Amino acid sequence: MSENWNITLKVSRQKEGETPHFDEYKMEVNPDEYVLDTVERVWAFMDRTLCYRHACHHSTCGACGMRVNDTEKLTCITYIRDVTHDGGTLKIEPLRNFPIISDLAVDMGTLYSRLDSVGARSVLPSPEAEIEKPAASWSAADGEYIRLADCIECGLCISACPSAATSNEYLGPAILAGAQANGLKRNPELLHLVDSEDGVWRCHSAFECTAVCPSFVDPARRIMDLRTQIIKERFTRLFHKA
Ligand code: SF4
Repeated sequence: MSENWNITLKVSRQKEGETPHFDEYKMEVNPDEYVLDTVERVWAFMDRTLCYRHACHHSTCGACGMRVNDTEKLTCITYIRDVTHDGGTLKIEPLRNFPIISDLAVDMGTLYSRLDSVGARSVLPSPEAEIEKPAASWSAADGEYIRLADCIECGLCISACPSAATSNEYLGPAILAGAQANGLKRNPELLHLVDSEDGVWRCHSAFECTAVCPSFVDPARRIMDLRTQIIKERFTRLFHKA
């Protein structure tokens, strides 16, 4: 077990109608703890008004995404030793490009509804629905049941995306990755959605989404693949018209 460190937590605070500001909390931590542990310690022992999202504590639910020292992190799997040092600071902010509900908690509603819009549902059918139609019997026609493999809907990619920062309408990396997973061949009506100003063409190929994704979904590569699919589709249509 490592020696304890003394660090300063600078936590972004913003309640409804307030201007955002930072509150500072000094604490002794073990560097082998996770960043989420420090946030929870603030709530448990220092300030019960601190609002943040968390659930599973093992990188499955995607709820605890935050910006840690200016980089998007899933805080339940980010070691303190990897992001600061003894005597150092941890700056904790909410994800960007989502409306802030309170302090570190953001509204992920658009992410979920947009995933639905490309047929990559964030919530799978209830067990009752599965009994009526078991997963083994799902077919390509069941587009609504396709799920983007490995995506935990954490929103880190959207927070890190420079293009998402310029437009609220841009579908964003996770959603475009969902469309790619669904496949334009399987679901041709997706074409008009992704082949648009707010679809794949707004991406500037910064690859920030892939860099921060904790689940190795590789949204940037999937967006590039979608572009290839779209161009092939355009050529196919051109030659069919000729
Ligand atoms: S693609 Fe990766 S970063 Fe984006 S929401 Fe899914 S798991 Fe999170």
